[in-house]
Amino acid sequence: MRSFFSRILISNWLFLVVLLITATFVLFLTTVISSTYYVILFISYLVFSLYVAFHISYRIASNVTEQLRTLQERTRLINAGEFNSASIMTNIQELYELSTSINAMSERLQLQFSDLNIEKEKFNLLLENLKEGVFAIDKEKRILFQNKSIPKLLIPEGSQSRNIDTVIKEKKILQFLNQHIINETEGKINIEINKKYYSIRLYTLKRDDKTLLYIGVVLDKTEDRERQLLREQFVQSASHELKTPITSIKGYAETLEAKLKLNSESNEKKFLDAILRNTDRMIRIVEDMLTISKLETSNMVFQPELFSLNDLVDNIELTVFGFMNPRGQKFINEIPEDFMIKADLVQLEHVILNLIQNASTYSPDNSKIGVSAERLEKVNRIMVWDQGIGIEEKELERIFERFYRVDMDRSRSRGGTGLGLSIVKHIVKLHSGWVTVSSIPGKGSTFIVNLPIDILITPE
Ligand code: ADP
Repeated sequence: MRSFFSRILISNWLFLVVLLITATFVLFLTTVISSTYYVILFISYLVFSLYVAFHISYRIASNVTEQLRTLQERTRLINAGEFNSASIMTNIQELYELSTSINAMSERLQLQFSDLNIEKEKFNLLLENLKEGVFAIDKEKRILFQNKSIPKLLIPEGSQSRNIDTVIKEKKILQFLNQHIINETEGKINIEINKKYYSIRLYTLKRDDKTLLYIGVVLDKTEDRERQLLREQFVQSASHELKTPITSIKGYAETLEAKLKLNSESNEKKFLDAILRNTDRMIRIVEDMLTISKLETSNMVFQPELFSLNDLVDNIELTVFGFMNPRGQKFINEIPEDFMIKADLVQLEHVILNLIQNASTYSPDNSKIGVSAERLEKVNRIMVWDQGIGIEEKELERIFERFYRVDMDRSRSRGGTGLGLSIVKHIVKLHSGWVTVSSIPGKGSTFIVNLPIDILITPE
């Protein structure tokens, strides 16, 4: 096989040799023919030379072009994903090297594509057979993928390539998806459809900070929910069952105390007082457990309304006076007079009362306890502060857990149940808000309740 360069060189040499031979022949002819034919002889020589030059160039050019065209066609087919087209045969060295590279590239691409296809198949199989429902939506709100675990009530079968607005009938889900697609955010929603409970999480898939698509994961929470309901029902019935005997123990102990008229220093009086103190604590625990259980099962009526926070705190002041006054503690209402707030009045009263009770319990006699409020851009903040014992930093995260007490004995001796703050957290969460605390041990604590101004904002 010759290179293109040597091919042209040989052709040129051949052409030159032919021209020389012809020229010698023409010179020879000039010696044998009369001079009147010289012009014809010269023109014939010129035509012959031009013809040979054209013929040689044409052959070379068409040969090369033909093979280049074949190469071009092959690369076009590879580009279109057809790797099985015939390998290219060529008799020009440079093109031979190029065509061998193209053939090798085609084989490698074919292998890589088949590997990719196998991976894709595996991935699809995995997604298809997941217990969780998975779907993908592009930025134009078209469904790109849905596996068979997606409940048909949420996204009907065969909705690929269709717009979510036309296929998703459940308004709440549609609103949730649209809201997150517009804002390019991730989020979660819990929803009940036909007595089934689903949790849908939406994730964004980003590249270079640009959202490419959205992946949704649907979990069927019906069984969890039923189990939780059973647990809550058990807690509720157990609490109700406990309440009756405890109340009667308390009643009998009070009657005994009244009837026996015991000496305040006697052991019997101390025992009866201990029984009464403990029954009171048990009643509080049972009541707190019932409240938590109601909050968790959403059995608590949630009725947000607009009211004056100052008036509410004024009312609470009357209640707290009973236990703060004997200890010389002073209550300060720092809420601005015109501070209006949207919340469930009964539940917010529970929250503030609970925080003030704690502030009083964990503060020394004659200290000050106050409630203030401020309005930020999106939330109303209510602060309950005290000058009490404070809380160590390492305890701050745990005090909202159920039954968690920093100092078990101190809490018990002051009638604490360890449930107060977890109820506070629950109620605030019901309002889509959150509660934080800052504290300096030995100086005091401030509990901050953040309630969204528009409390219908769905929590993330
Ligand atoms: P308890 O019934 O024990 O007060 P809570 O859930 O209300 O239960 O509070 C949990 C723990 O947080 C308490 O045991 C106490 O140690 C701590 N705590 C709550 N409020 C305050 C406060 N204002 N100052 C200091 N410690 C507090």
